[in-house]
Amino acid sequence: MPDYEFYCRRCKKQYAAWMSVKEHDERLAECPECHRTDQAEKRLSDFFARTSRKS
Ligand SMILES: [Zn+2]
Repeated sequence: MPDYEFYCRRCKKQYAAWMSVKEHDERLAECPECHRTDQAEKRLSDFFARTSRKS
């Protein structure tokens, strides 16, 4: 299972989470600091795509 990187804008903290590709498509991992997902964004290790959100 891949290891994905996320960034929490609220805590200004980067963190990693293990999730399946499908999970990664469907949801964000919660921040270990604030336990929220609403300020989280997906980070790709190749720093090109700040994923533009669908829907
Ligand atoms: Zn946070």
